[in-house]
Amino acid sequence: MRRSFAAFLLSLVIPMLALAQDAHRVAIRAGRLIDGKSDKLIENALIVIEGEKIVSVTAGGSAPAGVEVIDLSKATVMPGFMDVHTHVMLNGDISAEEYDEQLLKESIPYRAILGARNAHIALSHGFTTLRDLETEGAMYADVDVKKAIANGEVPGPRMQVATRAMAPTGMYPLLGYSWELKVPTGVQYVDGTDGARKAVREQAMYGADWIKYYSDRRYHFEADNVLHSMVNFTDEEAKAIVDEAHRIGKKVAAHAIGSDGIAAALRAGVDTIEHGDGLTDALMDEMAKRGIYWVPTITVGLYVAPGRGGNWQRMADLQRENFTKAIKKGVKIALGTDAGGFDWKKLNEAKEFEYYVQYGMTPMQAIRSGTSVPAELLGWSEKVGTVEAGKWADIVAVSGDPLKDISEVENVKFVMKGGTVYKNELH
Ligand SMILES: [Zn+2]
Repeated sequence: MRRSFAAFLLSLVIPMLALAQDAHRVAIRAGRLIDGKSDKLIENALIVIEGEKIVSVTAGGSAPAGVEVIDLSKATVMPGFMDVHTHVMLNGDISAEEYDEQLLKESIPYRAILGARNAHIALSHGFTTLRDLETEGAMYADVDVKKAIANGEVPGPRMQVATRAMAPTGMYPLLGYSWELKVPTGVQYVDGTDGARKAVREQAMYGADWIKYYSDRRYHFEADNVLHSMVNFTDEEAKAIVDEAHRIGKKVAAHAIGSDGIAAALRAGVDTIEHGDGLTDALMDEMAKRGIYWVPTITVGLYVAPGRGGNWQRMADLQRENFTKAIKKGVKIALGTDAGGFDWKKLNEAKEFEYYVQYGMTPMQAIRSGTSVPAELLGWSEKVGTVEAGKWADIVAVSGDPLKDISEVENVKFVMKGGTVYKNELH
């Protein structure tokens, strides 16, 4: 009897304590607010935050009595940035040697430590959400990085992860080693429709939020001036991957660079096309019609082109043409950079915003491409992507005006995620 009474008392006290902690309120005074939703910049906005969430956003107004005010009155405030194509487990792979060394000479625990460091780098650049699109041989360690961040053990962005990705046997590195050696593979090799369904189930079991597969390889231009490619999976296999993923509530991202690979991925019913250099008018029209997202990863394309030679520069030029067309056709473009494909320490992935403006977006469109559009892609529109009442308080600020000079986004001075301030150089 006494025990149950004590338990009853505790059951009252614990939620009250939790409530008292959650109720911590702060306000941000924003000189200029780009909320990720409206076309207009809001001057002198007041954002009130309670616990992890935004409770109100008003133009002008004064903070409630007793609420601490973070003064960003000289800054431009935006929703936290989102990069929906990253590899936190990778640290540059311009050359095959660089890639092979990481898989052969670094243990998965070591790579996970660097992964946590890279996630922190992304956060300090203003990226409060990432979709990490495969571990490149580090198995399911992205799930662990995501978990450590979510548990508050290490600082980093919110994450959705794809774990291992898929390609058929022999169609993804490591390749070229003696058959006597058992070397790691960058992806999970998957063959046949049963194999495809099993691999989807296995990756989901170990924590994959997304399924990623390699639709193509061997990109080359033919006489028709179209970028072609060799398609990896049979249509039956690709459809089995997508069908099984959708059946269990997961979405699918396809690496697809050549027109043939993109067409095959669209036939299979994927949700996002990654890279997409070889898009044709007809493929873009289909994507616009079906609401399939394009994640262009221009930063990595331009970063690797000079060093790789071959067709890479021509592919980057084609992508630029296609980007401008895709905006006009209304293709949904979500910001993704392929960070990890370039060294996290050498390049700020926010560079991607600058390319979008160079390629024809307005600065406001580019900012939405890296905030509210990817929020929709992730199925998190109710939670992130805009500075609005009810959303998680994921907020960044720069000292200048990115609508006048988009490169300002490469100089984030303030980062808040879920109401916690991780960086503030605007004191
Ligand atoms: Zn990638």
